[in-house]
Amino acid sequence: MGKKRYKKADVSKSMTEALGITDLLVLKTSTDSHYYAIHKRYFSDDKLPCPACGSTKTRCSKVVKRTFKDILWEDDPHDDAETKRKFRVFDLTFYQTYLRCDGCNNSVFPEPINFSGKGCRYTNRLSDELADGTFRFSYKKVCDYFGVPASTASIGPIMRRRIQYRESLLLPVSTPKKLGIMEAVFFRETHPIVFALREDGVYCIDILRDSSEETVLTFLRTLDTNEVDTVYIDPVDSIRSAAAIAFPSANLVVTDECILRYARDAMLEIIHEDGKRFPVKFKDAVLSIPNKRLQNDFQRKQIEDGMESRPRLKGAYNQHQALMELMDSEWTYDALSNWAHNIPDNLTEFATLVDVIDLFDQEIRDYKGTEEKPPDLYPTALQAVCEAFKGMPHCIFDVLRARCFLTISHDTIEENEAKYRLGIHTSRLTQNMNEITANIKEAREYGL
Ligand SMILES: [Zn+2]
Repeated sequence: MGKKRYKKADVSKSMTEALGITDLLVLKTSTDSHYYAIHKRYFSDDKLPCPACGSTKTRCSKVVKRTFKDILWEDDPHDDAETKRKFRVFDLTFYQTYLRCDGCNNSVFPEPINFSGKGCRYTNRLSDELADGTFRFSYKKVCDYFGVPASTASIGPIMRRRIQYRESLLLPVSTPKKLGIMEAVFFRETHPIVFALREDGVYCIDILRDSSEETVLTFLRTLDTNEVDTVYIDPVDSIRSAAAIAFPSANLVVTDECILRYARDAMLEIIHEDGKRFPVKFKDAVLSIPNKRLQNDFQRKQIEDGMESRPRLKGAYNQHQALMELMDSEWTYDALSNWAHNIPDNLTEFATLVDVIDLFDQEIRDYKGTEEKPPDLYPTALQAVCEAFKGMPHCIFDVLRARCFLTISHDTIEENEAKYRLGIHTSRLTQNMNEITANIKEAREYGL
């Protein structure tokens, strides 16, 4: 090997300590805004073994200059929660040695580093800081705060690294007896959310990338097959078959909550289509609740007036009201089927629900036959989660899931002296989601 470019005397002990990256030695040419560093192995005679063949017949091939953005915190001795922690973002140039192996066909490899990811332009500690911020704020706002460029190419690797870490901290799930699988819509894509129905409430266990049988089954297999006795499914073939495979002895049912949710979604579609300039405030809410729960007769009169010139909306409203009334009573499958088959052809928005009632008749009948029903608060809990989803700003699925499930702690339980997670109580989940939405949409300042 040739003469070394740097001598031990070129290393600054104090700046090496200040940087605090164990693998690196900082050169005296550095400044506070730009550190220059070499690997601490630089002055050692130990030969790095070749990762391909294990031979230590390796020698320096070239030195590549790589520059990262890095961060250092200036610890405030008066740790005052009111004041923001001070930090310094700076450039870190690292002279990375590439080695050539004489043992195997001259392969060339870089000396391994553990302070930054492959191809990443940030050190891990800065990358993690950006990711942690992006879980709760927009990526751009966080990057602006730290004074680094918000390039879209960097967000993926930055988030993935932190998501993996946070995921690794999750405890195993405590399998509930009753499971719910509901599809939530997020920017035209549907993602199944898995719920645990427990006596003290509804907990979200996870949100899945898509509704394919493979995705759903992979998740369900992480649960204890023998524990689950009932699965409240959304009427989707792939979800039904995944649940049937994962829990062969469980009861798969479609609940009244689900039927009413599908009906409400259809009704909302019709309101958006035919109810433009409808003369009531908050028409989505007002036109989709039972008429008997309206505030007063004045509202009823307003609705009647508005319906006069909108026959299709009126027809839909009456059908929807009839369904809600039916489901409020001791309904039977036949009565429901009868309702579905009396839907006029022009109300195409109800077609999905009509199909569901036909194709999932067994699951609906089985639901009627079960003794145990989901808790009373189940419909409101699910509706709140759906609404919170609709409000969230657009982002890639991994970030969506992380924002919902990895930014707040899960509720836990102790069983047989081990800790398990129950999931996140829906009230806490929706509160958290709404907060993140507000952080991003209302241009709240990012701070630490
Ligand atoms: Zn080799």
